[in-house]
Amino acid sequence: MALQARPGIMEIAPYVGGEAEIPGMERVLRLASNENALGPSPRAIEAYRELSDSLHRYPDGGATALRKAIADTLGLAADRIVCGAGSDELISLLTRAYAGPGDEVLYSRHGFLMYPISAKGVGAQPVAVPERDLTADVDALLAAVTERTRIVFLANPNNPTGSYLPAEELARLHKGLPASVLLVIDAAYAEYVEAEDYSDGTALVEAHDNVVMTRTFSKIHGLAALRLGWAYCPPGVADVLNRLRGPFNVSAPALAAGVAAIQDQEYQAHCREQNSRARAAFVEGLKRLNLRAEPSQGNFVLVRFGDAGSAAEHLKSHGILVRRMESYGLPGHLRITIGSHEDMTRVLEALASYEQ
Ligand code: PMP
Repeated sequence: MALQARPGIMEIAPYVGGEAEIPGMERVLRLASNENALGPSPRAIEAYRELSDSLHRYPDGGATALRKAIADTLGLAADRIVCGAGSDELISLLTRAYAGPGDEVLYSRHGFLMYPISAKGVGAQPVAVPERDLTADVDALLAAVTERTRIVFLANPNNPTGSYLPAEELARLHKGLPASVLLVIDAAYAEYVEAEDYSDGTALVEAHDNVVMTRTFSKIHGLAALRLGWAYCPPGVADVLNRLRGPFNVSAPALAAGVAAIQDQEYQAHCREQNSRARAAFVEGLKRLNLRAEPSQGNFVLVRFGDAGSAAEHLKSHGILVRRMESYGLPGHLRITIGSHEDMTRVLEALASYEQ
């Protein structure tokens, strides 16, 4: 018999990242991948450069310094932290650890695409649960739980909708789940959130054995190129991930830059404020053009168009790359990352000449 991948794998539509180039165009504005337009903290760049003298050394497989820096900065327990090559790796490790053939993995209908991709990768069945007003629906998620459910993934706030569940709703979701189901709260955009009733999920992780929170250095920390994320886990889950992960899954330059980035709280505050101002101004500008953005807690907004395809092409002809949303079941929307104030002015100018 011919060589065959395991069941489920050939059902995966490979993840397609945001476009990064437009052939023949020089001043391309990349607003398709929710990157931090301001880049990383200068201290993180410096730490990365310093590492270039010791590229022949293996990294610290235990990520000791980074886990301590994260724990000290955020008031967490270092031994509950597991680092990964981006939160993508942690999502995939958690899926491998807790789901397999015949199991179900729940996620909200317009949730982050890596959840169904990871589920299919282990032969599990991804189950897309309907949302209400482009927001995860706790009742619908709980109603979708069956004996086969192993994991519920929830991005909070969610990419690409920008919506979030308040702390109370998150707790209600957890309370309704059997103890045998793992709740993964993906808080990739937590640092940008301004809503006062939001919680990143730390308290739930600390109080229960079946809740994990994942975080990333790719967004507010501006280190997407280095691939760095972390999970805050109950001790049992940390133990499982530490057995399953590669012994040196995070590179030394990523670890060094991560320590500097997490400690530079001033820079994080600066990025957060800049995003908040640029996002508010952009949403107002869209309104003036009769365009509607969904309320967003992240560094991006989901914008509705009559014909999203032609709007994306129009922006591209002005050197601006945004994200099409067909793969998220939102063919009438575009997701636009919030860049600098000047970036967003350029987008609004381009949209002003777009005839819907
Ligand atoms: N979760 C969410 C909700 C995201 O939007 C992203 C990045 N697009 C990730 C996880 C993965 O981030 P990374 O692997 O770069 O840490």
